[in-house]
Amino acid sequence: MDLTDAPAEAEFRQTVKDFIAEHGDKGRGGGGRGGGGGDEESGWSREAREKGQSWRDALVDRGWIAPAWPKEYGGAGLSVKEQFILNEELAEAGLSNVGGFGVMMLGPTLMVHGTEEQKAEILPAILAGEVVWCQGWSEPGAGSDLASLQTRAARDGDEYVLNGQKIWTTGAQHADRMYMLARTDPDAPKHRGISMLMLGMKDPGVSVRPLTTMANTQTFNEVFFEDVRVPVANRIGEENRGWYAGMTLTDFERSGIGNSVGTQRALKGTLAYAKNAPDHETVLKSSGTWRLDFVDRWIEADIARLFSYLNNSIQDRNMVPNHEASMSKLFTTELGQKIAKTNLKLFGLYGTLWDRNRPEAMKGRPAGGFLAAVSSTIAGGTSEIQRNIIATRGLQLPRG
Ligand SMILES: Cc1cc2nc3c(=O)[nH]c(=O)nc-3n(C[C@H](O)[C@H](O)[C@H](O)COP(=O)(O)OP(=O)(O)OC[C@H]3O[C@@H](n4cnc5c(N)ncnc54)[C@H](O)[C@@H]3O)c2cc1C
Repeated sequence: MDLTDAPAEAEFRQTVKDFIAEHGDKGRGGGGRGGGGGDEESGWSREAREKGQSWRDALVDRGWIAPAWPKEYGGAGLSVKEQFILNEELAEAGLSNVGGFGVMMLGPTLMVHGTEEQKAEILPAILAGEVVWCQGWSEPGAGSDLASLQTRAARDGDEYVLNGQKIWTTGAQHADRMYMLARTDPDAPKHRGISMLMLGMKDPGVSVRPLTTMANTQTFNEVFFEDVRVPVANRIGEENRGWYAGMTLTDFERSGIGNSVGTQRALKGTLAYAKNAPDHETVLKSSGTWRLDFVDRWIEADIARLFSYLNNSIQDRNMVPNHEASMSKLFTTELGQKIAKTNLKLFGLYGTLWDRNRPEAMKGRPAGGFLAAVSSTIAGGTSEIQRNIIATRGLQLPRG
């Protein structure tokens, strides 16, 4: 694997750096996150757009809001390597071009399974950032075993009548629309009676209840459907074949592998702080064990970066990473939790302070980060599920 840039790639990297130098400040308001959740503090919010300070708009203007989309659909049509360089440089600068569920998942899925009308209506709106989407997959009784989902879409002429509940729906409280999976044939085997539908979050019968995480954020929600009428024209793919359209989307979710530069960047921040922190504040002076932990995290972050390169090189050969993507997801998210723990340890007892108004221990950021890191090994498929994938598909071990 050649990790150096070819001349054209080096030139592209410089173009990205120049773009960041010019526009990067717009994306750093809320940590540069995208996620489609409408982060009100960041350069992704509607407010920022209205003020003409939107990071999203800068990306749209440059054509980089959808780097992976083909040019015929308005994307940047970048090669896999160029996408990687773009992501790497953005992460290095603490930024992200993750344009939410629409760009990352729904758009590419519609290109494969959508009707011409759906593509013509929805793809330009995603690119223009006009519609924020959320993903209605998980239910209280269906997460890892998603095909057990019970939300019912009963056909009534040209419409489906939707009843049921979704949970952990990221950004639903800010989203305009949802794509989701619902059961259209309750008598069919579980994977075969599901359809993929799109609906409006303000449609009659849809209600959203935000959930508060233990890190005191409201990022995800419960969504309830009570006799919601969804036009049949809003179905993606064939009736009862939604599982397969949904799995196309999940492949896009998995293959949108970010990279681990952000992890290394965070470690650099901690390192700089540890070197300059007042004597009393960190355990550095009194104990050598933190150093040893930190060195391990540093090495692990380098390994995580190599996983990114591995997956990138697979995509570069026009193949879809499979258990390799699971290895990267598992390693990187578990590393995120270990880093959060190491950060806490640096501050000894101060580390447990979780108060932005107190100056000690980086204003409580390590404590908040520790709590926030918990969910990363659950979102997008739990660590156990990743291990199952690696065991069966990677190592060909029999199913347990
Ligand atoms: C931050 C965050 C954002 C999310 N955003 C969304 C979203 O936008 N839309 C959406 O639809 N969902 C979302 N989810 C939900 C997420 O997809 C599910 O939480 C995840 O798939 C796990 O499902 P579950 O919570 O029902 O746990 P379960 O599937 O009930 O699992 C419970 C435990 O059992 C283990 N387990 C389950 N099956 C197996 C098995 N076969 N072998 C070994 N162990 C097993 C799991 O690893 C886990 O430890 C989000 C979750 C998080 C944490």
